Amino acid sequence: MTTCADGSLISNIRPLQGIFVAGSGTDVGKTVCTGALLRALQQAGCAVQAVKPVQTGVLASEVASSSLSDAAVYSKALEGIRPLEHLHASAVLHCFGLPASPHLAAAKENMRLDCQNLCHDILTHWDALQASALLLEGAGGLHVPLNEDEDMLDLMAILGLPVLLVGGNYLGGLNHILLSVAALLHRGLSLVGLALVPAPDPAKGCPGVDVADMLADNARILQKKLRVLGCDAPLIEVPRLETLDQAGWEALACQFGPLAERMASNWPGAGQKKLTGHLSEEESLVQRDRRTVWHPYASATSLPRLNAVKRTYNNRMVLAGGKELVDGMSSWWAAIHGYNHPRLLDALHAQAGRMPHVMFGGLTHEPAVALAERLLAVLPEGLERVFFADSGSVAVEVALKMALQYQQSRGETQRTRFLTPRGGYHGDTIGAMSVCDPVTGMHSLFSAMLPEQLFMERPSCRFDQPFDPACLNDARQMLTAHGKEIAAVILEPIVQGAGGMWFYHPEYLRGLAQLCREADTLLIFDEIATGFGRTGKMFAAEWAGVPPDILCCGKALTGGMLTLAATVCTGRVAEGICRDNGVFMHGPTFMANALACAVACASLDLLASGDWQKQVHGLELALHEGLAPCRDMPGVADVRILGAIGVVEMLEPVNTRSLQKFFVDMGVWLRPFNRLIYIMPPYVTPKEDALRLCAAVEEALRQGAHLS
Ligand code: PMP
Repeated sequence: MTTCADGSLISNIRPLQGIFVAGSGTDVGKTVCTGALLRALQQAGCAVQAVKPVQTGVLASEVASSSLSDAAVYSKALEGIRPLEHLHASAVLHCFGLPASPHLAAAKENMRLDCQNLCHDILTHWDALQASALLLEGAGGLHVPLNEDEDMLDLMAILGLPVLLVGGNYLGGLNHILLSVAALLHRGLSLVGLALVPAPDPAKGCPGVDVADMLADNARILQKKLRVLGCDAPLIEVPRLETLDQAGWEALACQFGPLAERMASNWPGAGQKKLTGHLSEEESLVQRDRRTVWHPYASATSLPRLNAVKRTYNNRMVLAGGKELVDGMSSWWAAIHGYNHPRLLDALHAQAGRMPHVMFGGLTHEPAVALAERLLAVLPEGLERVFFADSGSVAVEVALKMALQYQQSRGETQRTRFLTPRGGYHGDTIGAMSVCDPVTGMHSLFSAMLPEQLFMERPSCRFDQPFDPACLNDARQMLTAHGKEIAAVILEPIVQGAGGMWFYHPEYLRGLAQLCREADTLLIFDEIATGFGRTGKMFAAEWAGVPPDILCCGKALTGGMLTLAATVCTGRVAEGICRDNGVFMHGPTFMANALACAVACASLDLLASGDWQKQVHGLELALHEGLAPCRDMPGVADVRILGAIGVVEMLEPVNTRSLQKFFVDMGVWLRPFNRLIYIMPPYVTPKEDALRLCAAVEEALRQGAHLS
């Protein structure tokens, strides 16, 4: 599935097949190479069409007739070979008269090009054709702007097609080619070939040089550099012919013959027949996975249902078979800015070039310090020290250890237990598990080694109902009875996530904080799921205006790109632990990983723009609208929405396996558990996609997909 300009989805489009032909600059022979490859592919039996998504320098009214139009070159390239029935040799999707960069040429005609619409146009064009592949020719080089924010490379990254790069076989050409190859690899695009075209007069400016020798050496060094980059794409040396008549095109097509044969045999429906019994890319990956890998909360022998993801962009996942899914999970609360955000990618690459990682004992670095400063500036007031951890669970372990060490440091050595509400979830390591809900939190499996903690009633007062002070009675009773044993109270503020997707009243937190003060115990907020805007506030604690003594965050800290978490405490806790030369006894190998810290800083930059507030609010409205029909459906116990979280709670546990298949068939990615079908999309999700996620849930319930 793919998006339309209006945001709706075109269902069941077969995956786009083809090659994107890009130049390392202008005037490098890109159109001639496209024509030659077109001829070679058609000769290899492939029904392929050359498509110019954007043509500049030609009036729309003259696109078919103008000799300046690339379409004219493609037609010439096919002279003398039998035309394909039902398929025109070429197509131009957008045409602008000004011979300039697409963004400017479009602006002159009061148009704005953008990647999503161009992608939609390409896919609708593809869908309407009986072609087995497209040759898409770019305009200018990779970073030619399509508008103020996007360029040709952004379009190529969304389409995800392999690339034939055409470049000039001369000194400056080498530089452009290598920069272009780096840019392609940087965006995860694969190179299927590098076509090298000499300058019109290669000897010019190089007196005394043996031209043939120079051209061959350029090719040699490029091939070597490509190999160093792990790229084994063939290098195709394309002669610059005086006149391009039929014989000339035939000669050029011969150069592209091996590439054409290879591509045609790879594309289902083109050239050779698929071997029977041959597994698709997705099937074969899943099969290899099943021999070696163990998945979360899953059996290694009774195999879970799996889909293989090949690439991602914005709020989309593309499966290995080409199917595209609208993501409704943000990869477990993490990918708030969507996938492959260019700012996060740039931060990652830049930091990787400088310093990926150093140990944090006795050393420090800019990304860690900057991140600590940035975090403290957005966290609830009173928090002063940041301890970096590798994952949410470890951040919770760190918080528990901090509380214990703090109590020991002030002589309260009997305070060794933690009080926590039922229905909580804090991670899968031993300490974190001990404070998860004792029934759903796997306690029975690990009771032999879990420390016994104290549990109180789940905060029963709904977020959206008047507050009832009686809901604090159990907390009060527990703190009165056990106050002196309790090192800290730990809970997820406002939203209990994996333990039930339950939203409770902010007044509960205010009351609980007061009770903790009276019992002289610490208060730990686990904001690993709720932090960074998900509930409509930067941190859920802000709903109550209650600062904790210790706060854990993770998941969306790096915008979902790398694993990183942090445990942050007040000056009082830090000073307590470190009194009398005390030290805090924790220090993971990958603490404050520089890559993760740099990406987290970039994610905080994105959040600082403030767009998230509008986005989360928009998603909240869309989830209200889209999930409303589920309220009255049979089997539904409750529908609740807070910020960018939408929950449909069922009366009975749902069949996750069959629902997951149903949702994938519908083109969405949702993964329900127990009695909960929930949606928490990336903040950048357009309204139409949010409604699409809701519609998939409604349809699943209507068809009973949760029962089967
Ligand atoms: N606390 C909460 C509230 C969580 O939701 C999670 C993860 N779902 C964790 C802790 C554990 O984080 P991680 O999976 O990164 O260990």
